[in-house]
This record gives sequence, C-alpha cells and structure tokens, in this order.
Amino acid sequence: MKNTLEKDIKELYALGDELFIHPQLGYKEFENKRILTEYFKKHGLEVEDLGFRTAFKVSIGSGEPHIGLIAELDAIPTLGHPFANKEDYAAHSCGHSTQCAIMAYTLVHLKDVIKNGTITLYFTPAEEFTDIAFRKQLIKNKEINYIGGKVNMLTAGQFDDEDLFIHLHTMGQGDYRFSLNTALSGFIYKEITFKGKATHAAVAPDKGINALNAFILFDNAINMLRETFREEDFIRIHGILSNGGQTVNSIPEKTVYECYVRAMNPEALKKTAAKVDNAAKCCAKAIGASAVIKSTPGYLPMNQSRLVNDVIRKNMLKHCKLEEIHDDEISMAAGDIGDLSVFKPTVQFGYSGFSGNCHGKDLCIADKEWAYYKPAKVVYDTVTYLVNHPEYVQKIKDDFKPLMSKEEYLAYLG
Ligand SMILES: [Zn+2]
Repeated sequence: MKNTLEKDIKELYALGDELFIHPQLGYKEFENKRILTEYFKKHGLEVEDLGFRTAFKVSIGSGEPHIGLIAELDAIPTLGHPFANKEDYAAHSCGHSTQCAIMAYTLVHLKDVIKNGTITLYFTPAEEFTDIAFRKQLIKNKEINYIGGKVNMLTAGQFDDEDLFIHLHTMGQGDYRFSLNTALSGFIYKEITFKGKATHAAVAPDKGINALNAFILFDNAINMLRETFREEDFIRIHGILSNGGQTVNSIPEKTVYECYVRAMNPEALKKTAAKVDNAAKCCAKAIGASAVIKSTPGYLPMNQSRLVNDVIRKNMLKHCKLEEIHDDEISMAAGDIGDLSVFKPTVQFGYSGFSGNCHGKDLCIADKEWAYYKPAKVVYDTVTYLVNHPEYVQKIKDDFKPLMSKEEYLAYLG
C-alpha cells in the first residue's frame, strides 16, 4: 500500500507547533479544539461534539471492524515553561498536543486508503488530575460528573461501539525509541477526619477523646498492613496529616489525614482501599473516637491488550531495533486511559523525540521525526493491518475479559 503519510509531513509539523503553543487546562481546551476542528474541515471531515465542554470525535469509513483512537487535549500547570499561558501556567509539558497532531494527521491520511471498517478518533479533555476546585465547580453546575475526562465519557457510554482502542503518550527524554505494554498504576484519593472530644489537656484529659491518638493508632495499623501487600501489586499508601489538632492546651477534637492509595490492578486497589477504611474506623473506635472517610476515585490501573501490542511492535520494528523498545515497563504514573482499559481492549504506547522531563518546564520537542512522524506511521500501519484482518480483531475481542462490570464501576466511582 502506498504510504501517503510522508507527502504532507510539513503540515503535520505545523499542526503540532500550533497546538503546542496554545496550551489550556482540562475542560478549557477550546483553542486546541478550534485548531483541530479547522484542520479536519480543511480535509473535508466534520467533527461531532460530545459535550463535557470540549470533548469531540471524528469518524471515517463504515462497518466492521471499528477501531477507536484516543488523543488527549489538556495541558498541565508548569511554572516557567516557555509556552505556559499567563492565566494559569498551563503548558503542554506532558506532550498531549503531539498526540492530537499525530492522531488527527493519521486519520486524515487513512481516509484516502481505508476500504473496510470504521475508525473513530476521540479527543478527550482533562486527563491530568489537576485544577480540582474548578472541576468541582463544574460538577456542581452539572457540566461534568467526574474529575477525569474519559471517566465522564465512559460513564456516558461514548466508547461503547468500538472493538478496541489505541492511544499513545510521550516518554519524555529517555534511552528508548518506543515503549510497549507499560503498566500504569491506579489511585484513590482519601481524606480521613478523626473526630474526638476536646477537653483541657492538663486538667481533664480523662474526659476527652484524643483525635490525634486515633490517627496515630491508624498510622501504625497502616504500617502493620504493609506486610500484607504483594510485590506484584505495587501498592503505595502515602499521605500527610493536614490538620493535627486545634490548640496545644486542649485534647485534639479533630485531625485530618489526606492520602493516596495506589496499586497496579483494580482488585488490589479496591482491597487496599477497603483495608485503609477498616483501619481508620476500627482504630478510631478502639479509643472512643470516630472516623469520617471521603474517597475520590482517581484512575484505574492500565490493562494493556498484548495482542494489539504485538501488531504495534511489528510496526515499531520498521523504525528501530528490538532493544530500542522498552517492553513491559512498570510505571507508577496513572491516567484515565486505565479506566477505559478495564472495559475494552486498549493500548497506550510510548514514543520519543523529546528533551527534558514530563511535567517539567524544560519539556520540548527535540526531534520532529520521532515526536510526530514515526508514531503516526506506527498508528497508520497498525490501523491498516487491523481493518484488513477482521479475524485478528475478533481474536483480540475473544481474548479480552472486562475487569469490572459497569455497575461495579459506578459503585466504585461513588
Ligand atoms: Zn500525560
């Protein structure tokens, strides 16, 4: 098949440059949406609005199989980044603008060659778990239901029709050309308030209930629980005591502990979160105090489809050697692509071509061929293979088992 990707390569780089210098935080990505909408229009494609302020999609082709592509729109606050916006320091220091350019360009070029199947490209808002006060206000206003963009789209059933999803993310500066089968952790944020009873700390401690002691007992229980964590689950519990008491001469009435619970698979995440809740309630009760627990789901761990990645690996090997691909990396980072991967065969592969650190003020695009063209070619070749091999897509679907039901997911989100 003729490779039409190469002929307009300057257009890909120009689109990437324009997106990179117009960063906006989650649910505010109107500028990137406008740039992309105009780009598609120029190539005869209409975008479909999906609500949640900035979400949208573009489809080509018809019938089966149906391949989903995902690009993230949002930037992250990064002080000192040369293209950070003045308002809230949003910068594309996580490289999401390059995802958008790669996927948009690839879709436009697939349009000319795809004979069978449907390809739908989703542009998803607000992957970064940040700007929380603003998002909580949007939840109050009923503009969104959850903090993460894909979580809103997933619970609204917007990803139901596709057979599988392909996503990609920069690796920042590193030793590898690509990464594959990377495990991403999941997390839940908790705010635990221990409630006791204040009395004079010297005159009448016998009449008080010490909320700080309740926390200390709980903290010891958490440390004792660490021996129950399995290595393969990569569990982390880390937090801060953000309120340790009210005044030195009183028995503390209230203490507040904030923490993240992280794990590499949804089962371990749920189990560990339940252990933390149980320890908080029981340790408080042991000394007559009580514990109020507020949990905010972060994202679920990434579950990579190895069968899709087998095709991607073959297409990466057209550009680099096997030892230049970082396979089976374990990363404690998290993303809302993890939630989607619980329900559908999903992959996220990593690409290079950047210098500096992800989320750092020094992240920039160092090599456009690797940051744009090569990953675009990998997506292009992978999609082309999949639509022409429906039996392999069927095998991918047969091999996949959802890790949660929709009901369990909604209960977990709370
Ligand atoms: Zn990112």
